[in-house]
Amino acid sequence: MPVTIQGLTPRSTELELEGFTASQANAIRRTLLSDVPKLAIEDVEFHLGPIRDEASGKDYDSSTSMFDEAVALRLGLLPIPTDLSQFRRKSECSCGGAGCPHCQVMFSIDKKGPCTVYAKDVVPLGDASLAILEPDVPIVRLGARQALLAYATAVVGTAREHAKWQVAQGVGLSPRPHVKIQRKEGCSDACLKRTAASCPVNILEFSAGRLSVTDETKCIDCGACVETCEHGSIRIEPDSERFFLKFETDGSLSAREALRFALKDLRRRCEELREVVQAIP
Ligand SMILES: [Zn+2]
Repeated sequence: MPVTIQGLTPRSTELELEGFTASQANAIRRTLLSDVPKLAIEDVEFHLGPIRDEASGKDYDSSTSMFDEAVALRLGLLPIPTDLSQFRRKSECSCGGAGCPHCQVMFSIDKKGPCTVYAKDVVPLGDASLAILEPDVPIVRLGARQALLAYATAVVGTAREHAKWQVAQGVGLSPRPHVKIQRKEGCSDACLKRTAASCPVNILEFSAGRLSVTDETKCIDCGACVETCEHGSIRIEPDSERFFLKFETDGSLSAREALRFALKDLRRRCEELREVVQAIP
């Protein structure tokens, strides 16, 4: 099953899969969407009551313009860099779920208004490499005499539980378009020339009385050529064994790590299924 990497950046990738069935390719897509784990903030403890600034002696009210629940939801969506060799789910941790440096990360927020609280104000306690990846995401605005003092706990989870644990975003799977050209009766050179010129990505060429495709991989399946030739000399059909898979991540894991985990996880589950089936007498 040849796989061609057509693009790879730390946060995105584009692959061409060959020799896959639609269901195999879709299994990879679904695993990427739902089963790749990462850290996300799950619990937030807000300080209640007045907050005194020792330096200035001023008193602040521990309230914001938003409900605590809404602030907590926003905190949950912040991307935290996740090293899967270091972190695991609480349920699988040797601490028995009590919480330890291998299954949870603590963050603190201590801001006094008037100001805007940003993601960079959510500071990891201890390891600075766990700082939020998008520091300029605004979370809440504090008015004069308003303050936010909170502690947040991030744990490992997957998007099966909540979308905040979704690593891969915009996972797109599409069959590779296959351009079929067969000159039909009554189709003139002028018609084929027009057809070639109608292609927005310029992959059709008309020369020596023949219409040909220069680079099928660049076809965007827009159908402009099919509409232009009224004789039906050109058709675009989805290839049933070749697929384009592309996705990006929120940065918590790189595109390479997310894909690697998804493929390993898929393999593990297939192995488990095989063992169960083999055990049937
Ligand atoms: Zn633990």
